[in-house]
Amino acid sequence: MQSIFIKDHIHDSQPITSEDVGLYIHIPFCAQRCHFCAFYLVRENEQKIERFVADLKKEIVLWASQENVTFQKISTVYFGGGTPTVLSPDQLGDILNCVKSYWSVDAQAEVTVEATPESVSTKKITDLMQAGVSRLSMGVQTFDLQERERLGLHPGIFQVRNAVQSAYSAGLDNLSLDVMYGIPGQTVSSWEETLARVLDLRPRHLSCYALSLEEGTQFFRQWKRGNMRVFNSVEEQEFQGLANEYASKAGLIRYEISNWASPGFACRHNLRYWQGLDYLGLGPSAQSYVDAVRWGNVADLSSYSKQLAHGQLPREDMERLSVSQRHKERVVFGLRQMEGIPVEWLQNLEHDMSLKQIMARLQADDLISQAGDRLHLTTRGLQLADTVGLELW
Ligand code: SF4
Repeated sequence: MQSIFIKDHIHDSQPITSEDVGLYIHIPFCAQRCHFCAFYLVRENEQKIERFVADLKKEIVLWASQENVTFQKISTVYFGGGTPTVLSPDQLGDILNCVKSYWSVDAQAEVTVEATPESVSTKKITDLMQAGVSRLSMGVQTFDLQERERLGLHPGIFQVRNAVQSAYSAGLDNLSLDVMYGIPGQTVSSWEETLARVLDLRPRHLSCYALSLEEGTQFFRQWKRGNMRVFNSVEEQEFQGLANEYASKAGLIRYEISNWASPGFACRHNLRYWQGLDYLGLGPSAQSYVDAVRWGNVADLSSYSKQLAHGQLPREDMERLSVSQRHKERVVFGLRQMEGIPVEWLQNLEHDMSLKQIMARLQADDLISQAGDRLHLTTRGLQLADTVGLELW
């Protein structure tokens, strides 16, 4: 069993330890930026990618040489971005091997790679699986050509079908597809068409997210100029309701507000975020939360590289969460899951009476309810989840 320790701990020298960590690896490259996307990324470039892979391995080795943080086991690895599949299977395999040579990775670990449909083929997915990848998550967003154009996506709808076929031909069953509602100009009928077509591809997992306006994106600028209309909450509720109707009819089970899966195919890595479990982020802009300490990596490829060249972990904004913050976060994120939270967690909110009062009000307003020893969002609460989240925050 490998032990890893962080030397330059935040304000004190207490060791950080974790029995079970999820690893998030941010691959910050894309062919182009979609109009709604605010993730940290740069345009793909072969030399930059090669240098980045070398830097990422330096970051892993540097972590492994630290002296006061211990990780016992890694049970999920998630390559996100960006478009991780702009890296070759050899490069992704190289990173995975580096992880495995310094850390104890569970034999049954879930290893996810995010991909765009145009960046994969049967051969590539076969090679990825040989490298250890067990799950593929693909952004489809919409099957409507005009909506694809508005989002700044690659226009090819046939590539979505081909990519899914490639995954099945390669023998990969654990496939997740993402679609989006709230796209400018999207109608109920185009959304239903997207839902029908995406579910026709029989994914094991489906994510349906509402478009969110992020500062710095093309959409945000259009909205600021008054050239873009965003969905109101009634429209969002209607589109979310349709997503649930279609996904349920297709046999997928909702396990989180925006996520549905066949039994046994919920995303184990993403569940960690909602369950308040530890995760370590590698790569520029990646976020981490281990042993109640939270930090982010610098969101700049060149600073990331320079800090590693100087033997420093490229972290910033480290903070240790107080007991009260931790209790609050696990309530807020836990309620996103259909299984809800144990009622007893409310007892831990005694130090925070205002939050306890808010919870009582949410119950009175039929937004959360109790079933046995668990609290969960009601149907109304699911539709107004953002409002509930804001109330609690
Ligand atoms: S492909 Fe994904 S990460 Fe890349 S720009 Fe589009 S939304 Fe952002």
